[in-house]
Amino acid sequence: MSVIYLDNNATTKVDPEVVEAIMPYLTEYYGNPSSMHTFGGQLGKAVRQAREQVATLLGADESEIVFTSCGTEGDNAAIRAALLAQPEKRHIITTQVEHPAVLNVCKQLETQGYSVTYLSVNRQGQLDLDELEASLTGNTALVTIMYANNETGTVFPIEQIGMRVKEKGAIFHVDAVQAVGKIPLNMKTSTIDMLTMSGHKIHAPKGIGALYVRRGVRFRPLLIGGHQERGRRAGTENVPGIVGLGKAAELELRHIETAIKKETRLRDRLEQTLLAKIPDCEVNGDVTQRLPNTSNIGFKYIEGEAILLLLNKYGICASSGSACTSGSLEPSHVLRAMGLPYTTLHGSIRFSLCRYTTEAQIDRVIEVMPEIVERLRALSPFKNDEAGWLQAQEQTLAHR
Ligand SMILES: *Cc1c(COP(=O)(O)O)cnc(C)c1O
Repeated sequence: MSVIYLDNNATTKVDPEVVEAIMPYLTEYYGNPSSMHTFGGQLGKAVRQAREQVATLLGADESEIVFTSCGTEGDNAAIRAALLAQPEKRHIITTQVEHPAVLNVCKQLETQGYSVTYLSVNRQGQLDLDELEASLTGNTALVTIMYANNETGTVFPIEQIGMRVKEKGAIFHVDAVQAVGKIPLNMKTSTIDMLTMSGHKIHAPKGIGALYVRRGVRFRPLLIGGHQERGRRAGTENVPGIVGLGKAAELELRHIETAIKKETRLRDRLEQTLLAKIPDCEVNGDVTQRLPNTSNIGFKYIEGEAILLLLNKYGICASSGSACTSGSLEPSHVLRAMGLPYTTLHGSIRFSLCRYTTEAQIDRVIEVMPEIVERLRALSPFKNDEAGWLQAQEQTLAHR
């Protein structure tokens, strides 16, 4: 059975062209780019080319790109750098729906004397810019807000946010791990000071990422050691990863327009057909401001995990909540922040597409989903009984 992979917001397949680009750097060219001899030194050229490819994708200058080990490192490094650069300021603004790589750093900083404002979202998962404006003060060191949400695909009005942040003189960091390659970006005309991206979300391998740091923004490294990355990130360069990230960035740019069109069309067909065929389900998130590849649908009265298990039998990979919170049965913090009712909260599934997704794969999901939902609802003692379901959910929550 071939796999139908609709979990691309969790991770992606490495593009064959990326594999091909990396191979020589796993075999022949194993030198250290910092070495004095030609054998190692020649790798500097490969790293420079990759930096150029990543910079081009972001509309940035090569000197503004710092290679990291992953998106999580980029988020941690940016937050730390922003705080170290302005030690007198002790306030941070973020949102309730960030990835744990931002949220849990902020929670830890609260135990270290920082105060953090977690902006709320409405039922569509959107921010209230008045709330942002009211929270910004002269004491605000950093505003760290994601470009697009990994669970719902909701896209925030980043430049409108950035304008307000800049007026107050705070540093603006954006976790753009889900936006890179899905939304055209241009740092030259942006208000963003620092931006995080990750390789494995854009068809490069796991274990490589990049942080954009605007020229002029004071930066202090998270990893301290050698002088790699102009003293901004110590540690011998992951040359194969860097070369792969560069190639993946080049491919994202080459494919972005056709990918947006194709993924939007397939995503909308999947979503609209499921909504038409299956009663009592709804789309979670802002359907007007959304990533082209993401659909998060709540199926009432059943459990998302049960849907995933049945989809798995057909070789279909999707997700409930984020990979980082699964394993616990806690409902997603993102959907909870949106104030979804319990009935939908537990039965929500994320389908996330990529440029390899085919029409036939979407057809297969459309074919099997209605029977899966029907089967589970037949087993559900609370079918159409909102009050009963609610009571049962409250009881399980009370027992935790
Ligand atoms: C995946 C993801 C991250 C973490 O990136 P890693 O490379 O897996 O560490 C951070 N933020 C968002 C929005 C993500 O989707």
